[in-house]
Amino acid sequence: MTKFNDLPLLETILKNIQEAGYDTPTPIQAQSIPPLCEGKDLLGIAQTGTGKTAAFTLPMLQKLSGRDFSLTPKEPRSLILAPTRELASQIKEQIDKYGKDLKLKSAVIFGGVGQANQVNALRGGLDILIATPGRLLDLMNQGFCKLSRVEIFVLDEADRMLDMGFIHDIKKVISHLPEKKQTMLFSATMPNEIVGIANRILKNPVRVEVTPPSSTVERIDQRVIFCQKAHKYQLLRKVLQDEGVELTLVFTRTKHGANKIVDYLNAHQIKASAIHGNKSQSAREAALENFKSGAIKVLIATDIAARGIDVQGVSHVVNFDMPVDAESYVHRIGRTARAGKDGDAISFCDETEREALSRVQKLIGLKLPVETFVGVAEKSVQDTRPPRPYRDPRAKPKAKTDQRQQSKLAAPVGQKPQQQPKKEDKSKVGYKFRNKK
Ligand code: AMP
Repeated sequence: MTKFNDLPLLETILKNIQEAGYDTPTPIQAQSIPPLCEGKDLLGIAQTGTGKTAAFTLPMLQKLSGRDFSLTPKEPRSLILAPTRELASQIKEQIDKYGKDLKLKSAVIFGGVGQANQVNALRGGLDILIATPGRLLDLMNQGFCKLSRVEIFVLDEADRMLDMGFIHDIKKVISHLPEKKQTMLFSATMPNEIVGIANRILKNPVRVEVTPPSSTVERIDQRVIFCQKAHKYQLLRKVLQDEGVELTLVFTRTKHGANKIVDYLNAHQIKASAIHGNKSQSAREAALENFKSGAIKVLIATDIAARGIDVQGVSHVVNFDMPVDAESYVHRIGRTARAGKDGDAISFCDETEREALSRVQKLIGLKLPVETFVGVAEKSVQDTRPPRPYRDPRAKPKAKTDQRQQSKLAAPVGQKPQQQPKKEDKSKVGYKFRNKK
């Protein structure tokens, strides 16, 4: 088996890797690092969790620190394009770790935050720029960044960029890069558009394909719980209370769904936060930091926001909603059982999600053990508010005293109304509530 010491890497880099606690290169690292150190282009078919970040950053650090170079303001020597702010930040963290003592300058730029610091970093000149496509183009259009001196270009998670609608941005960025450079493209899947881009930008690439380490998936205890959609909130609470939960990542299909779960759990004294595209950058960072530190034990995420989240010690992944595409399932559950630990993945599956479950089972080639949960329909906080008493729009306005009495019927969130509405009102209340859904 290849050891890091067998790879053509600088002493300082080897020392940093050792400090990071790695002893053996992952398959993608063992296969990519030698050709990349020789300056070859690379097509890496791999997803997060395979060690691909180190596979491209180590040779990059090696090459950039290989010769003296005076930096040119606004013109970075290398560019890593990543789909999300989280992924871009995590790449930066890894570069800082592996590149310690190499005296290379790197910076990360992404949208959703002020641009002043990013512009300053670019002005100072950079060895490595990590960027999301939108903000990069924005700063380029304002004249703060030029790509004509890029020696190494990495396009990371290309298929995810496509899913997120960045294909035109990527093409624009590529059109600004110089002809002569080393290029690496990483993608978990190879849809036609990505094949097209790969053919255009890669020259005689070495192709390295790795599947997520099956040992990771094998270490995850996976099961499915069938239940009604409306019972999922109660089931989640039960899972969080019953299992030996340390840190739990809960996946939902929608941002709105994620917010509803946070409200629900918080109302039941379970601290939780959400991380998704509608949250501000600072809110996302705070949620991730709190989760990493264990200050909050439950993080609710959508697929895109969770892409690349690398938190050690996630004991459970809960699929509150089954993922629409089966590959997301593998991504989701891969957030647990990291760094050699075991993990649990529990998927809640309602009647409408059986097909999604079949697709997942087909992809992973496993029939997952199934349990059934029958609970009660608890809903998010907003939905558990007692319905407002029905008022016939044709009725005359009521006297003030009447209204005050009516308001007593409305109970605080999560509590039953103290008084039952009158018989006549009750049926109308029910009717209105059903219609509201
Ligand atoms: P990535 O696929 O780049 O997101 O990496 C997934 C995780 O594996 C990160 O937490 C890395 O720090 C870790 N990692 C990368 N390379 C190695 C290695 N050779 N040995 C152990 N862990 C590693």
